[in-house]
Amino acid sequence: MQIDGDVAIVGTGFGGTLSALILQRLDLRPVLIDRATHPRFAIGESSTPIADLVWRSLCRDYDLPRLEPLAGYGTWMRQYPQLACGLKRGFSYFRHQPGQEFHPRSDHANELLVAASNSNERADTHWYRPDFDQFLVNEAISERIPVLDLTEITEVEDGDEWRLSGHRAGERIQIRARFIIDASGEGGFLGRHLRLRNDGASLRTNSRAVFGHFTGVERWEAELRRHGGRVAEYPFPCDDAALHHIYDGGWMWVLRFNNGVTSAGLMLDAAQHPLDLSVSPEEEWQALVARYPSVARQFADTDLTALCGPLRRTGRVQRRWSRFVGPNWAMLPYSGYGLDALHSTGNAHTLRGVERLCDILAGRLGREELYADLLRYEQNLRREIDLLDLVVHGCYRSFRQFELFSAFSMAYFAGAIFSEDRRCHGQWNKHDAFLMADRPEYRQMVEGCYEELLRLLGQGRVSAAQAGAYRDFVRRAIEPFNIAGLCDPSRMNLYPYLDAAEPG
Ligand SMILES: Cc1cc2nc3c(=O)[nH]c(=O)nc-3n(C[C@H](O)[C@H](O)[C@H](O)COP(=O)(O)OP(=O)(O)OC[C@H]3O[C@@H](n4cnc5c(N)ncnc54)[C@H](O)[C@@H]3O)c2cc1C
Repeated sequence: MQIDGDVAIVGTGFGGTLSALILQRLDLRPVLIDRATHPRFAIGESSTPIADLVWRSLCRDYDLPRLEPLAGYGTWMRQYPQLACGLKRGFSYFRHQPGQEFHPRSDHANELLVAASNSNERADTHWYRPDFDQFLVNEAISERIPVLDLTEITEVEDGDEWRLSGHRAGERIQIRARFIIDASGEGGFLGRHLRLRNDGASLRTNSRAVFGHFTGVERWEAELRRHGGRVAEYPFPCDDAALHHIYDGGWMWVLRFNNGVTSAGLMLDAAQHPLDLSVSPEEEWQALVARYPSVARQFADTDLTALCGPLRRTGRVQRRWSRFVGPNWAMLPYSGYGLDALHSTGNAHTLRGVERLCDILAGRLGREELYADLLRYEQNLRREIDLLDLVVHGCYRSFRQFELFSAFSMAYFAGAIFSEDRRCHGQWNKHDAFLMADRPEYRQMVEGCYEELLRLLGQGRVSAAQAGAYRDFVRRAIEPFNIAGLCDPSRMNLYPYLDAAEPG
């Protein structure tokens, strides 16, 4: 079988399929290819305000009205109640001590809650990827986009056009296209075929993951109430969030869906928790969770879902290809690099990649200026990865003293909220970098907070006075971007959603 198209897209995660739907609107004939089929287990579930804003504007710009309700919890629930999702009102973090129950403090010093919306209607969502990705693929099929699932591409030839050859259901298949978008994520389709260098080891962050989909996970709030937690003071219910349990040398994500399934995963600092293949993922999970009795109780009565199967375990998560574009190919962000799940930046970054790449391809495919624009995309991607790496690495370093973490992470939240606000007010350009990574004043601010953090940590145990001084340092540094009252000690680590400007 031979299929001709303009753009071959390898990977039918949401990034690849959304790109195909947009390119179809631009009359650039896409062909979607995946070695797997749907529904399938996938992680990368938590959306953010910026992800929703991008999603909504892509739907409007490219006339995809059926997809637009997925940009927020309220519209999603009304329009597509059959697609499982989770309610995400913000980010919640709880610092645990080994061997001890979690004891909420009256000053909330071992907790941090940052709201991302002020109502369930406007809230972000956790995407239950088996449903979400399948829905998008079905949309692509109904738009008559060729979708080749269960297709293994074994040969890649680049000439005047690309020729991808392989097999599908025992049949030989060839796809010809002018351009390739690599949306294969960790699969690293083009990186491998073009023999690019993976320089992930040069990233500062060094983490690995053990994760799965569970049923029977208790609400964390029940545990807090048991210990007299003042949950009424929270800006949103702490389980309706990307919930983070922070422990020595890592953190755990807990994302609840409305179908009884909860996504949970341990992210482990690989230096403090080196991978030991003689210990199974289940044993490793049990041993770590058992060290934190309150978390152990939350997971006491859980099972893994059939679709997920046994717990998944990765080696080092960080990867980064030496190139992200060529004259006739480009990678979506998550195909170009992998960093860490902290603060849920991945999906928003992927959507910003789709937005920029599709805009570059619109009208420029086959023209000379295409490559120059792709190189600008690559340059921004590099800056974004370096910036995110600083943020995530600084957070890992600060986990051991929560007051440092709750201060340093404000350098990230200030930028995220500021760029969201600019976008809401129309002060943005499609080719702006994600998280203002192209704005030197923001980058330098994050670098300054990071360096000061490392300097402090380098001195050994940081006193309460030093931690307070560091928080003041961060508060001064983030001032030009701080529109949400972050780093204000009177808020006691509980930040409500302040911005009145919300998208229509
Ligand atoms: C541990 C972990 C947790 C994460 N949690 C979050 C989170 O909470 N929030 C968030 O925003 N982001 C998160 N991310 C990032 C998130 O996973 C990505 O942003 C997101 O999945 C990117 O979507 P995608 O469509 O680009 O790729 P993917 O979802 O990875 O899809 C890739 C597709 O390509 C296919 N494929 C792979 N190789 C080949 C091949 N050779 N040939 C054909 N097909 C191929 C696969 O079958 C798959 O369907 C997390 C990442 C990790 C590692």
